[in-house]
Amino acid sequence: MKQYFELYQDCFIVKGAKNILLCDVHFNKIIDITDFYDIFFEDYYFPVDDDLSEIISFLIAEKFGSLTENFTPEKFRKKFKWRTANKINEVIIEHKIKDDFETAGAYRIIEDLSTSFLQIRFLEFSLARLDEILSFIEFSSIRTVEILLPYTGLPQDMTVIEILKKNLRVKTVYFYNAPKNKSIVDDDNLFTVIYYEKNITNPKYCGIIQEDYFLNDINNISKSKTVNNCLYGKLFISSSGDLKNCPSAEKITNNIDTASISSLTQEINTEKERFITKDQIDVCKDCEYRYFCTDCRMYRENPENIFSKPLKCGYDPYTGIWEDWSKNPLKFNAIKYYELENIN
Ligand code: SF4
Ligand code: SF4
Repeated sequence: MKQYFELYQDCFIVKGAKNILLCDVHFNKIIDITDFYDIFFEDYYFPVDDDLSEIISFLIAEKFGSLTENFTPEKFRKKFKWRTANKINEVIIEHKIKDDFETAGAYRIIEDLSTSFLQIRFLEFSLARLDEILSFIEFSSIRTVEILLPYTGLPQDMTVIEILKKNLRVKTVYFYNAPKNKSIVDDDNLFTVIYYEKNITNPKYCGIIQEDYFLNDINNISKSKTVNNCLYGKLFISSSGDLKNCPSAEKITNNIDTASISSLTQEINTEKERFITKDQIDVCKDCEYRYFCTDCRMYRENPENIFSKPLKCGYDPYTGIWEDWSKNPLKFNAIKYYELENIN
């Protein structure tokens, strides 16, 4: 009886212009199969052959698939679908000691949106202000909170950490303008403190594409195939109350003091960038990393083209080589356009 090797349902192949990857979303593994991709039929099975025994043993040992006498018809293979009940699932909000918007009202809207992730950026900071902001989310449905605040080097920084560690929603605290980069992970409390030399509240630092940020999980992969994996479901509330898709967006959608949930959900539906998938983006559509990579629609190689490749990516899927994006002469005009010359 004829035998076949078939990939498990959680394993799938991504073809780039030069390289081809085999990805396993169950065990979180990605391998390069460029050298033997040709043996696959319809990207998920191939007939067993003595010449292929080494490859087959390797794939079975690595748990990518198994032998079968009847491979699964294509229509019964797992398909990626991504859906969410929330139009806005991720909010970034900026605060000063005194906001230019009604803070309590903003948090009522965040709550009404059923947001599950909140990033709070303190452009100016005091313990009293932290206390006040935390009181707004005390009974919230928000699941995860990140907090960005300026590093002082004073005992106050440790007091902040102790306060935030007790708040079970707060998972990550970033101190910006710190003397050096470092992170301290408290696995027992699922709590991380990260010190950054840069002032990461400056939106120009955002949008970097690098392998460290790739996400090989089923949520990110399905989202990347369906909508924009960075911008869909995201809302930024600036310290002046302006609402934008993200901190780097030029377009102001509305102001938090005048927005309503219904107007907001209608307005964001008209923002095209939220719906652009990696398969639609120039160059990225030919890249083997397109479903694992994050995207950036706000800093593009061609600022005039919303489908242009992210400016801050140094990977070339046609050669398979990574280079420093900021040193690429072909990007100098865009770097100047976005005023990123002194940002690295
Ligand atoms: S679109 Fe770009 S600048 Fe905006 S949040 Fe995403 S990565 Fe950052
Ligand atoms: S080319 Fe596109 S998909 Fe590939 S690594 Fe760069 S940004 Fe990501």
